[in-house]
Amino acid sequence: MITEENLPEHQFWRLNRIQYPVYSLGPGKRIGIWVQGCSLKCRNCISSDLWNFNGGKEISLQYLAAQIFNISASFDGITVTGGEPFDQYFSLLNFCRIIKKLTDLNIMIYSGYTIEEIADNQMSEIFSQIDFLMDGRFETAQHSSDHMRGSRNQKFYVFHCGKPSFCSEDFSNAPWSVKTAEDGTVYLAGIPGPGEISEIELDLKKRGMRVEFQ
Ligand code: SF4
Repeated sequence: MITEENLPEHQFWRLNRIQYPVYSLGPGKRIGIWVQGCSLKCRNCISSDLWNFNGGKEISLQYLAAQIFNISASFDGITVTGGEPFDQYFSLLNFCRIIKKLTDLNIMIYSGYTIEEIADNQMSEIFSQIDFLMDGRFETAQHSSDHMRGSRNQKFYVFHCGKPSFCSEDFSNAPWSVKTAEDGTVYLAGIPGPGEISEIELDLKKRGMRVEFQ
């Protein structure tokens, strides 16, 4: 049971949105969380609307964890992406601790930092709380078409007892998950291959829809 008393500091998290079900961005059926704010600013990032640390909305970890707990039995895992999850490290760490304590959900993080940078910046405590990590900046020149990663330099790790190893699992069979908002905006969760954004945008615009890639 989560209460205000047993939550550590960093009880709040600045997020852009939550979307589920998501069948891309990790293995199985997932809950997707997009954090707000990114200091890395990769060239040609498709999520530059998530760079601003004043955007999105601050959410209490207690509230968020309670919502996820209520639906957790229907999902395999949670994917945290963004934005840059490690730019709000302590909120991320506390969230992962709570989820691991309360549920059986696996946790995957997409980060622009490499695993070495995460360890060098004293953030490796999180390795004992997560199951998968896709790491590294988006590099336009290495744009990937596998729908698992944005660029080929990014590496996929699985964690056992806090220890990372390369993972060869292919979860790319569902490249997109779609959600429509009341204002007609279509949110696409997934990783576009080269040239796919303009094709999809054109197609949806013909149908009078606006699309947000995340
Ligand atoms: S780390 Fe991710 S969100 Fe941040 S700029 Fe790079 S691709 Fe975009």
